[in-house]
Amino acid sequence: MSDTRHTPVLIIGSGPAGYTAAVYASRAMLKPILVQGIQPGGQLTITTDVENWPGDASVMGPDLMVRMEAHAKEMGTEIIGDHIMSLDLSKRPFTAKGDSGTVYTANAVILATGAQAKWLGLPSEEHFKGFGVSACATCDGFFYRGQEIVVIGGGNTAVEEALFLTNFASKVTLIHRRDSLRAEKIMQQRLFKNPKVEILWDHTVEEVVGSDEPRGVEGVRARHVETGAITEIPCKGFFVAIGHAPATELVSEQLDMHNGGYVKVEAGSTRTSVPGVFAAGDLTDHIYRQAVTSAGMGCMAALDAEKFLAEMAGEAPAEAGVYAVAPDAAE
Ligand code: FAD
Ligand code: NAP
Repeated sequence: MSDTRHTPVLIIGSGPAGYTAAVYASRAMLKPILVQGIQPGGQLTITTDVENWPGDASVMGPDLMVRMEAHAKEMGTEIIGDHIMSLDLSKRPFTAKGDSGTVYTANAVILATGAQAKWLGLPSEEHFKGFGVSACATCDGFFYRGQEIVVIGGGNTAVEEALFLTNFASKVTLIHRRDSLRAEKIMQQRLFKNPKVEILWDHTVEEVVGSDEPRGVEGVRARHVETGAITEIPCKGFFVAIGHAPATELVSEQLDMHNGGYVKVEAGSTRTSVPGVFAAGDLTDHIYRQAVTSAGMGCMAALDAEKFLAEMAGEAPAEAGVYAVAPDAAE
């Protein structure tokens, strides 16, 4: 028989948005349950140095997320290693089913499921995934010591991955589809100065080439976006760093979405189109997509949930206040 757990506030996701929501919801005595998902700690666990988290000139992403988890736990959040497979927002209490078989019911839900890496969508990319094709330099860079590597993308992730990979590779070629990068200027400067990095501007990758016995990458075929000219670049590792897509599969049929699949929230709040359901972080944000903005939205979501539960319990609605204590009656 499956276990059923009820909580006033269910937080789904364990990135900066989820953990910050958990700290605030715990301090509001909402006894939240946070379900971590298959990537405990979220996207920052696959990077190295984070240099824009206020208070830390440099902190390792995985360390920061371990600290956030400990903070949420210390404040009283129950943190559960499970992955939500389905979510029913059609009636309250809302119902979520975990991969473990546990059923979670909740009066309010905070969605903080973040984003996942995008892929080019090439059959050859799929064929060599895990055999030379990767979307995580920190996870897989070590396998390419002394080898040539290609990275595709022009944002912060691509530049960071390319720089990180120079620690292992003999050469890193960054392929970008335009003639300028969108990464922060300071990152660009570091990239341009690095003697191991070569940049191939105005190109896309049309095929990953390799062998099948054993399966492995041997290079990529890049096409010039205007002339169509093909350049073959030998490499053993091909890292795709072309951005992230919001992880909204649990709710895409149930909530209003915007901007190509991000959960829509009311301006200046985290309220979604279903009362009692709040969204924070990268799954609702197509513009900023930073750890600190996600954490900020996590705070807002907990305060919005607190206000919602107080209203639901028939209390005078608290001014979405940090110090207002939500009633147990909301449980
Ligand atoms: P995420 O961090 O994406 O976390 C999502 C969470 O949801 C995960 O824990 C996942 O397990 C969980 N989840 C998903 N689906 C389910 C489900 N069905 N059930 C349960 N749980 C689920 N930002 C910066 O500010 N500074 C940086 O230096 C920086 N470096 C980065 C480097 C890389 C390589 C990447 C990829 C991103 C970087 N970012 C950086 C961006 C930053 O990581 C994100 O903006 C931030 O992590 C988003 O936080 P989030 O809480 O919205 O979601
Ligand atoms: P991003 O900023 O969306 O950049 C994606 C890059 O990939 C763009 O340069 C884009 O090209 C390119 N691209 C997209 N689709 C492509 C395709 N099909 N083929 C070839 N190229 C393609 O994504 P990101 O770099 O992953 O960053 C995501 C967010 O996390 C950003 O907000 C970023 O600031 C943040 N982040 C921050 C840090 C940091 O602060 N140090 C580090 C990593 C990430 P165009 O430029 O032509 O669109």
